Amino acid sequence: MKEVFIGNYGLEQVGQKMTATGWVANIRNHGKLAFIELRDREGLLQVFVAGDSPAFAGIDHLHKEDVISVTGEVVKRENRFVNKAIKSGQVELRAEAIQILANSKSLPFELDQHAHTGEDLRQKYRYLDLRRSKMTENLKLRHQVTSTIRDYLNGKDFMEVETPYLTKSTPEGARDFLVPSRVFKNQFYALPQSPQMLKQLLMGAGLERYYQVVRCFRDEDLRGDRQPEFTQVDMEMSFVSEEDIRRLVEGMLKAVVKKTHGLELTEAFSTISYEEAMSRFGSDKPDTRFGLELKSLTDLCQANESLLIKKALDNQEEVMGICVPNAANAFTKKQLSHFYQEMKGFGASRFASVTVEAGGLQGVLASTFETEVAAFIERFKAQDGDLLLLVIAKKRQAQEALGYLRLEVAKHLDLIDQSLLNFLWVVDWPLLEWNEDQNRYQAMHHPFTQGIFEDGQEPGQFCSHAYDIVLNGYEIGGGSLRIHDRKAQEAMFELLGMSREDYERDFGFFLEALEYGFPPHGGLALGLDRLVMILAGEENIRQVIAFPKNGTGFDPMLESPSLVDQRQLKDLHLELKN
Ligand code: ASP
Repeated sequence: MKEVFIGNYGLEQVGQKMTATGWVANIRNHGKLAFIELRDREGLLQVFVAGDSPAFAGIDHLHKEDVISVTGEVVKRENRFVNKAIKSGQVELRAEAIQILANSKSLPFELDQHAHTGEDLRQKYRYLDLRRSKMTENLKLRHQVTSTIRDYLNGKDFMEVETPYLTKSTPEGARDFLVPSRVFKNQFYALPQSPQMLKQLLMGAGLERYYQVVRCFRDEDLRGDRQPEFTQVDMEMSFVSEEDIRRLVEGMLKAVVKKTHGLELTEAFSTISYEEAMSRFGSDKPDTRFGLELKSLTDLCQANESLLIKKALDNQEEVMGICVPNAANAFTKKQLSHFYQEMKGFGASRFASVTVEAGGLQGVLASTFETEVAAFIERFKAQDGDLLLLVIAKKRQAQEALGYLRLEVAKHLDLIDQSLLNFLWVVDWPLLEWNEDQNRYQAMHHPFTQGIFEDGQEPGQFCSHAYDIVLNGYEIGGGSLRIHDRKAQEAMFELLGMSREDYERDFGFFLEALEYGFPPHGGLALGLDRLVMILAGEENIRQVIAFPKNGTGFDPMLESPSLVDQRQLKDLHLELKN
C-alpha cells in the first residue's frame, strides 16, 4: 500500500527513490525524452522519462488510462518549471523502470471532454467519470462532511443506531417502494421514507441522543435534485427545547463549513418565521443572498377606481410586486411573457411590468395605478430606471409566483453572490395545510409534530414546533418537537381525517408505546446529498452521489430496474399482467 499518494508528492520526497502507481492521464513523447502525467486519487504527478533510460523503450506501448508503476527518484523541478496548477508541481519523478499493471481500452469518452458527453453515457461508465478530479473531489467532500458530522455528534454523546430498511407501509407522506415477501404470501415490506417513528421509539427506549446517516426511499416523480433513494443525517433527542436542537445543528453545520471551506462562521444563523419568509421572499426556503423583496401594495389601492382592482379587492385578492433596480430595459417582452407563463402555474394570472421614469410609471397598467404612483414608488424606494413587476392574485398564489419571479430575475441579472453560504432557520410553521384534492387537512411537516393551539383558532391557523434549515435557497433539513402523549397523537390523527380504526391499524403499536412513559423529544433530519451539492458548488445531487439514478430513476450502468426471472416471481407469489 502507498505511504504517500502520488498527487501529494512534494519537497519531502526529494532525493528519495519511490515507486509511484497510478493511471496514465497523458503522455507527451518528444522523441528524445518523454513526460507522463500519472494520476491517483490525490492528483497528478509528472514523470520524466529520459531518452537514455531503460524505461524509455516502453513508452510507445503506453496508452491513456493504463495502470502503471514507475520506479525512480523524486527530484525538485527548476523554479521556471514549477507547475502551480497541481499539488505535486514542485517535483517530478525521474523514471528508471516502468511496469504496466493493467491495460486500458480506449475510453468511451475522453475524461476531459465530460462537458460534451451525454450524462447517460457518463453514468453508464460511472467508474470512469468518477476518475475525473472534480468528481473525486466531490466524493471526498462528501466523506469530509459525514465524518465531521459523526465526530461532532459523537462528541456530544450521540449514539449511531441502525434502523431496518425492510419496514411497514404507512399511508401518510409520499409513495412507498414495496418489497414483496416470499415467506408471507401476498404481503409486502416497505422501504422507509425516513426512520421517523423508529427514531422516536428509540427515545421511548431511553437512548436520549440518536443519529444515523441513513438511506431513505421515496417513490416520487423525479425533479432536478431528487433521487428515489437519498441520504439523511437523521437525529433525535430527548428532554430538549426547539432552541437546544437548533443550537446543536447550527454548531454542527458550522463545524462542517469550517472543515470544508476553512470558514469560521461566528454569527448565529438568522431566524425568520414561515409567514415572514412567505411575505418577504415568496418562499418557505428563501434565498437571502440578494434583495428584491416582495412588497404588498394592497393597502395603497383601497381607493382605486378601476374595475380590475375593485373586483380583485372584492375577491380578497392582493396587489404585490418586486422592484428590480436599474432593470427598465433588462428584459425583452418575450422573456417577461415567459416568466408570466410560468407564474400562471402558481395560480396567478394577472401581471404588469411598469418602469419608473421621471418620477412616474410607464407601461400597460401604469394608468390603472395613476393615483397610487407616488405611494408605490415610495414603498419600493424606487428610482428612475427601475422595473416594477406586479401581480394581482390571492395572497399565497401571488407570493409564490413572485417568489419564483424573484429568483429567475436574480439569476438572469446575475445578482447572486455565489461565494456566500447563507444559512437561515425558518420557524413557526403552520401545523396543517388544506389538501384541495382530498378535501382534508394534511400535516405540513408530518403527523408527529407538536402543535401550538390557541383558543378560537381554525385548524388551518394552528402553529407548530417545526423548523427548517435553509441554505442558499435550498431546504437542507427540517424537524420538530414531537407529540409524546397518546391522547394528543390520536387528536392529531383525527385532525388529519383518520378514523380510530385507521390509526389503530396503521399506528397502533406507536400509540401504545406512547403509554409507557415516553419522554418529551424532538429532532431533525438533514438532506446530506443537497448539503454536499451546495458545498461542492454543484447544481444537481447526482454530482455528489457515487452511483446515482438518472433523471428518470433508471441506472444506466446496472440497467436497473430490470425484468426478473419467472422463477423469482413465482417465489414471491407474483404474476405479471403483461
Ligand atoms: N423525518 C423527517 C423528514 O424526513 C425529519 C424529522 O422530522 O426529523 O422530513
